Amino acid sequence: MKRSKFRLSFPKDEKNHTWLVLLLNAYAIMDEGVKKDIEKLEKQGKSLACKRGCSNCCKTHRDIPVYPIEIVGIYWYVIEKIKEPFRSQIKSSLLKHKKGETCPFLIDGVCSIYPMRPLACRQFNVFGKSCEVGEDPFYTRPDDVLKPRDNYLGRALFETASFYGVFDSDEKIEFINSGRLNSLVKILQHYPWIELARRMN
Ligand code: SF4
Ligand code: SF4
Repeated sequence: MKRSKFRLSFPKDEKNHTWLVLLLNAYAIMDEGVKKDIEKLEKQGKSLACKRGCSNCCKTHRDIPVYPIEIVGIYWYVIEKIKEPFRSQIKSSLLKHKKGETCPFLIDGVCSIYPMRPLACRQFNVFGKSCEVGEDPFYTRPDDVLKPRDNYLGRALFETASFYGVFDSDEKIEFINSGRLNSLVKILQHYPWIELARRMN
């Protein structure tokens, strides 16, 4: 099967971690789906507001869902891949983070785990003007929020199902549609990231 150009690649790590292969496949499905949707809307005259350094969404949202495999991905990325001086900044942010506060991975207005940011962050895109401080355009101007035209979230989750011990295709669909997978979801801003900070030593 031809590899998507959206697929991130960490060849050595992927040899050691089968879950990482699944997660990167899932992220590629999501990123490709989002890109296609954005391009369609741009052809209709809409203009994407999201850009590097624009981060009010990361500060405003307090209930971003994160799947268990994504938490493993974040642990791996932060422990294995992030070098100084960023590493110390992230560690300090994780140590200070309190349950329910804004995402601890936002450092100096930039996502410090960008390649491993959760599916929900990848999917949230806004058109028109940038979000105001404290604004959640999902409520203030829902027409400006990207609505997936294709079930790429479902396909991305399907890709990760074997991480949870579900291998048969029909069972994977049932695992996702029945809500069993969703019952495992954590909230990024509520997660005890201090454990990750300790593991960084
Ligand atoms: S969602 Fe809003 S705040 Fe976040 S990058 Fe897009 S425009 Fe900026
Ligand atoms: S993980 Fe990254 S993109 Fe998602 S809320 Fe945190 S800083 Fe923002």
